Amino acid sequence: MLDDMFDYLSSITERPLWQHLPAEARETCFRQALPHAPQALESVHREFMQQILPYTLGNIHPGFMGWVQGGGTPVGMLAEMLAAGINANLGGRDHAPIEVERQITHWMRELFAFPPNASGLFVTGTSMANLIAVIIAKTRALGPETRRAGLGETGIKLRAYTSTDAHNCISKAMAVVGLGSDAMRRIGVDADHRMNLQELADAVAADRAAGYTPFLVVGTAGSVNVGAIDDLDALADFAQSQGLWLHVDGAFGALARLSPEIAPQLAGIERVDSIAFDFHKWGQVPYDAGFVLVRDGELHRRAFAENADYLQNHEHGMAAGAPWPCDFGPDLSRSFRALKTWFTLKAYGADAMGEVISTSCRLAKKLAERIKAEPELELLAPVALNIVCFRYLAPALDAEATNALNTRLVIDLQEAGRVAPSSTRIRGQVAIRAALVNHRTTEADIDALIEATLHHGRLRTQPA
Ligand SMILES: *Cc1c(COP(=O)(O)O)cnc(C)c1O
Repeated sequence: MLDDMFDYLSSITERPLWQHLPAEARETCFRQALPHAPQALESVHREFMQQILPYTLGNIHPGFMGWVQGGGTPVGMLAEMLAAGINANLGGRDHAPIEVERQITHWMRELFAFPPNASGLFVTGTSMANLIAVIIAKTRALGPETRRAGLGETGIKLRAYTSTDAHNCISKAMAVVGLGSDAMRRIGVDADHRMNLQELADAVAADRAAGYTPFLVVGTAGSVNVGAIDDLDALADFAQSQGLWLHVDGAFGALARLSPEIAPQLAGIERVDSIAFDFHKWGQVPYDAGFVLVRDGELHRRAFAENADYLQNHEHGMAAGAPWPCDFGPDLSRSFRALKTWFTLKAYGADAMGEVISTSCRLAKKLAERIKAEPELELLAPVALNIVCFRYLAPALDAEATNALNTRLVIDLQEAGRVAPSSTRIRGQVAIRAALVNHRTTEADIDALIEATLHHGRLRTQPA
């Protein structure tokens, strides 16, 4: 199995990035009855090699640019094997795996210049990390007693604020918490897709006047559509002056703090109350490895800690070492996500992670230059980080037909299997979106994207 995976990783460019799982295989292999009797391991493994391995999404392929997804590494893969071997449960108690997670928290405090009492927690991803931040901010605004009493009795109508370009998991978090997604006000963005600060101030003032209680601002460091970074310093000033919790969704962008070239764009992130980010995107740690870092660890603990008798902490023995990770989030049983992150940071070094991020951004700038030089292509958004949005133009087509063409072109590119962007909408215009995240992506892949877009664009608009 190990040999197969090393072969697979070293020959990744020799296969199509993505291919459709045949309908027949879907039916015969993945709709079977529960296997009561044992099968030979070799035959199960063969099935994996034939029916699963060739039909992945291709996010480890250097031509994958579709969504902000990580490329993984051999070191991460091996660390996952070790973690599964010891099968540690990181909910709590006194054992070295918990210290590995605390070590990562310590490193992240150092990276983001957070104080020694800041807390950190591994979670599935930034969706969950954002949810945890919303819960902490809500508990701070209403007091810990609302954990028992619930929201209904207080009569307080909370309001949160984020930009129209923010990820939809933030509204989802508001819905899950029971505040309702309507309680998340969407603030417009400027030409660079950064939150409009005057509009934010006006919305907060209007809400206060109307009897609402503003409690949370969510800034974005690396927006999912175009890679924009809000003015975090200005947001920190505003949140401080208004007594609001400032959370940053830095799903992929926050780790750009490791890139000396990009870090200045994140100025102010060291002042915020909490940061959500993923090691599984630009950090290249295998899925899943999200993280939340909270400036005031005690507020974090008070939003989640329970005192069940069967979970009583002790000063000695296996049940020592409080507080435990389960005191900082909803999960009790937790996997050893910290180990693959620890291996990745130690075996490659944090600077290498920063270098991957710098390289992605340099490639994005190069891609933008190439797009500007091609009369058939149009750049649709400024390139702040690693995401490039553009489209193919044919003079004869109106706005609607141009949108339809570009939607179709993205599918053509994905099915051709060399490069895979995705599509999105920028101010109503359908864009071909290339998110450069993978450490394996090189200039050759950028060239291939340009060539394939021109090729398929001409095929669709200039039939022979
Ligand atoms: C990917 C992403 C998320 C969601 O993170 P998951 O790890 O997929 O849960 C949230 N916000 C932004 C900006 C993202 O790019």
